[in-house]
Amino acid sequence: MADFCIFCEIVAGRQPARLVHQDESVTVFWDIHPQARIHLLVVPNQHIRSLAEAEESDPLLLGRCLQVAAKVAREHGLDRSGYRVVTNVGPDAGQSVFHLHFHVLGGNRLRLPLG
Ligand code: C5P
Repeated sequence: MADFCIFCEIVAGRQPARLVHQDESVTVFWDIHPQARIHLLVVPNQHIRSLAEAEESDPLLLGRCLQVAAKVAREHGLDRSGYRVVTNVGPDAGQSVFHLHFHVLGGNRLRLPLG
């Protein structure tokens, strides 16, 4: 049996989440511990551990994730003031859920530097 993955469960509708978008390839929902006024997670429906494991998968899927990130950012009014799209890969970046996801953060002034 495959390992339990909370984001696979959310994509499948077996765990609750505040969904803002779902189509045949990508799901978007609110982060449960927001780090900005608006903090959404863009997740491919297909299980991919991280960006590092995405190289062999359909490159259209990564493009679609970013396209949807821009769409949901626009729908939440972030295109006017700006926003950030981030993906964490592995321990040094603090990745805690090992299902590829893009954070979409905005709605207030975001902190810099990133590293
Ligand atoms: O990049 P990283 O792997 O650390 O991000 C995982 C994110 O998933 C966290 O911001 C966490 O709050 C969020 N999360 C969530 N719902 C869950 C589990 C984690 O929004 N059920």
